[in-house]
Amino acid sequence: MDTVVSETLLDRRERLLGPRMTTFYDEPVHLVRGLGTKLWDVEGREYLDCYNNVPHVGHCHPKVVEAICRQAGMLNTHTRYLHEGIVDYAEDLTGTFADPLKSMMVTCTGSEANDIALRMARAVTGNAGVIATDHTYHGNTDAVSQLSCTNPPPNRWDSVEFVPAPDSYRPVSAQDWAGHVEAAIRRLEEKGHGLAALIICPFFANEGFPDLPEGWLTPAIEAVRKAGGVIIADEVQPGFGRLGTHFWGHEKAGFLPDIVTMGKPMGNGHPVAGVVTSRKVMEAFRDTFRYFNTFGGNPVSMAAAQATLDVIREEGLQENARVVGDYAREGLRELAARHDCIGDVRGSGLFFGAELVLDREAKTPATAFTKNVANALRHKGVLMNFLGVHYNVLKMRPPMVFSRDDADRMLKAVDEALGEVPLA
Ligand code: PMP
Repeated sequence: MDTVVSETLLDRRERLLGPRMTTFYDEPVHLVRGLGTKLWDVEGREYLDCYNNVPHVGHCHPKVVEAICRQAGMLNTHTRYLHEGIVDYAEDLTGTFADPLKSMMVTCTGSEANDIALRMARAVTGNAGVIATDHTYHGNTDAVSQLSCTNPPPNRWDSVEFVPAPDSYRPVSAQDWAGHVEAAIRRLEEKGHGLAALIICPFFANEGFPDLPEGWLTPAIEAVRKAGGVIIADEVQPGFGRLGTHFWGHEKAGFLPDIVTMGKPMGNGHPVAGVVTSRKVMEAFRDTFRYFNTFGGNPVSMAAAQATLDVIREEGLQENARVVGDYAREGLRELAARHDCIGDVRGSGLFFGAELVLDREAKTPATAFTKNVANALRHKGVLMNFLGVHYNVLKMRPPMVFSRDDADRMLKAVDEALGEVPLA
């Protein structure tokens, strides 16, 4: 019965929404309900969500749901009228940033936020060139999709240069990585673009979240600033306390960016995203571009974002991420003592995972195996995904209300799956 319903839905998706719309897992999951860290499918089967970083404070958190409903029943309109919601939130959120990052723009998606960040960088530097890593993803607008190597656009702009994604399991030194950035800067200068920005996720989330020591990025950042460029920190994945030790990924990495973008977790599932920068950069942007976003910063979005921020604090979720994340990593390390395929366990707070290898000595990526493990886990009712340069890193980024019991359930399922799935 389940298969029939899913296939029908799959066929309708294909007919109505077009081909090649991706789904997770060999057998897609058809969800109908969520609460906290749990999800339920159309057959009533329960899943533990170890992957969704969008429902940051838990699926359908009652306080966020109530805030959205209350505001939707009162007023929702665009920002050409005055409303306290956006200003109160901007005041509260920018309070979590160091000086001079005290100006904010609100958008609906992380892609829009990064698109604006690129324009800000161009406006404030007068240059066009941008550097990104060769295994990142920053979004889907025409400009932002230029930053993707894994999903290359058909019309690649020559104002974008790439550097290799950092790796802590097969390490590169900070100086060598800065050397790659310097070479990219030279290429941009030779082409006449100059350097506008280096854009990075400070936790390198899509690259496989290498464990880089604080300050590792400093030589590269100095090279960017010396060339007149700015640093854009894409906090779409690590932000809002997920890393446990710090509220923002750039704080943990030990640098202060010029522009910060955020999205996914910001409204707990409501589409709200944003850019935080200095007054100077914001003025350069406003002087250069006329920008208006119909839905960005509307009162309902701001109610969702404010309630999410309030819950993070009221429920101590950053601390929960630190404590439960440490516990889960410790459990994964215990599994590594029994499963040779676990080559590396890493991460911070509730952003963690394990790199799976065929051979620990050679560190040969177990790419096909990792995909099969993720599929096996789905059938055990535990949802996670895999990524990294070799697509062999099990990635976990659960709602921040993830408990020790949830971690135990995840560890038991991983233990079983690693024992059952053939390693070849
Ligand atoms: N930046 C990063 C690091 C992301 O992972 C994503 C989404 N996966 C985006 C930006 C784009 O965000 P959105 O899908 O909200 O446009």
